[in-house]
Amino acid sequence: MRTSHTFSTIVTLLAAGATGALAQGRGNARPAPAPAAPAAPAMAFAFAQTCAPLAAAARQAGQPSAQQLAAARRDSIRAAMTPEQRRDDSLQAANRAAGGSGADNVSSRALAVAGQPGNGVLGGVCLTAQDSIVQQVVARLDFDNFKNILRGLGQFGDRWAGNPVGPGNAPAVDWIDAQLKSYGYVTERIKYSFEGQPREEVYATKVGTKTPQEMYMIGGHMDGRGGGGAINDDGSGTALVMEIARVMASPDIQTDRTIRFALWNNEETGLNGARAYVEQRQLLQGIEAPAKSGKYPEPKWLAMINHDMLLWDHGNPPMVMQSLSADVNVEYQLNSKFASESAQLGLAFINANRLFATNYPAQLSNAMSNTDTGAFQDLVASLSLRDGRRLYEMGRGSSPTYHQPTDIFPTFTDQDYRLGFNAIQTTLGAVAKLTEVKITPKAMTP
Ligand SMILES: [Zn+2]
Repeated sequence: MRTSHTFSTIVTLLAAGATGALAQGRGNARPAPAPAAPAAPAMAFAFAQTCAPLAAAARQAGQPSAQQLAAARRDSIRAAMTPEQRRDDSLQAANRAAGGSGADNVSSRALAVAGQPGNGVLGGVCLTAQDSIVQQVVARLDFDNFKNILRGLGQFGDRWAGNPVGPGNAPAVDWIDAQLKSYGYVTERIKYSFEGQPREEVYATKVGTKTPQEMYMIGGHMDGRGGGGAINDDGSGTALVMEIARVMASPDIQTDRTIRFALWNNEETGLNGARAYVEQRQLLQGIEAPAKSGKYPEPKWLAMINHDMLLWDHGNPPMVMQSLSADVNVEYQLNSKFASESAQLGLAFINANRLFATNYPAQLSNAMSNTDTGAFQDLVASLSLRDGRRLYEMGRGSSPTYHQPTDIFPTFTDQDYRLGFNAIQTTLGAVAKLTEVKITPKAMTP
C-alpha cells in the first residue's frame, strides 16, 4: 500500500487528517518513513544572495561597544547644546518614548535587515551581499548628529556671501573646515574673488583605493540669505554633505572610487562658488601630480550631485503639517549636454532610495534649475536633490521660509528633519554603491 501511494494521494490523505494512518502504516511492524518532499522546481534564474545572516563584527580588545560609542556621541551632541536646547531635546526624547509627537514618524518603511526575509521595501527579497554592506554604511548615519550640525550652522546667521559680506560667512567656512578636520579629513579650499572681495569655500576628499583618479562629487551651499539661520536653504544640504563625510571618514570604510565633499559659497549671488571651482579645477581632471605619485589632486569627474533645501514638503498651498505625499525630489536638466547620463544616474538614486531610505520615497524629474549643478550640467552627469521640484513646487510658493527670517532651526519639526535625513540616506546609499564601498573591520587605533 505504501509503495502504491502517488504524491497526490498523500496530499489528499494529509489534507483529510490521515497522517496517523500513514505514519503507522497498515499491517506493517515498522513505521513508514515520512514521505519525501517533492523536488523543488528549478528556478528560471539563480538568486544572487543567500539571505545568510551577517556575522556580527568582532570587537577588538579595548574597543568601545556600539552602545558606548552611541552614548559618547549622544553626550558630545548634548554638550554642544544650549541649556534650552538640551531641555527641549530631553522633552522631545521623552515625548517620543511615550508615543507622542515624532513617535509616529519613526519608520513607515521597515529597513531591510540581512538574514530576515519579509522585512524591507523589496517585498521580502533579501539584499545582495553588496547592498547589505551599503545598508550597514547607511545605518551609521545619525539623525541627531544631522540636527546638531544644523544647530551649529545656525550660529552663524544667514551666512550671506554678497556685498557687503555678512558677519557669519567666513566664520562659518572656518567652522565647517574644523568639523571636517575633526572627522579626520585633510581639507582644501578654493579661493576666489566676488565683486573684488576675497571669498573661500572648503572641500574634503575620501580617496578611492582602486580607482582614485575618478570621483563622485556631492555638494551643498553653505551661504544663505534672508536674515534667519538659512537652515533649510541651505544648511540642510550643507549638513547632508557633512554627515555623509563623517560616516565615510571611518577608517574601516573604503571605496574603490574617490568621493569629494564640497560646501559651496556664494550660491545665492549667482552660483559664483561652484563656478569658481569649475574654472579653477576643470582642466586638472585626471592629472597625476606629482608624476608617478599615485595622487590625483583633481580626479576625473563622474558626477556632481547637489543638495539644496531638503526639509520642507507641506504641499501647495503649504499646510501646517508635512504633506502626506512628502518625498525627496531628484532632478536633472533635460536641456543639458549630459541629460541622458544624468537620467541614468537619477535612476540609481531612485533605486538607492527604495533600498536604503527608511521613511520617504523619491521621485525623478527633468527640470533641474537654480542650483550649483548649473555650473556642471554641461560637463558631467548632474543631479539635484530637494524637498520639492524647484520650478513647479518651490517656484510656485511651496516654501514659505524661502529667504525669510523664519528659516531658523525651531521652524522645522522632527518630521521635516526626517525628510532631510531620508535624502541623506538616499545619497549615501547611491554614492556608496556607485563607488563600491567596503567595510574592513580593523582594530581601533589607541
Ligand atoms: Zn539654496
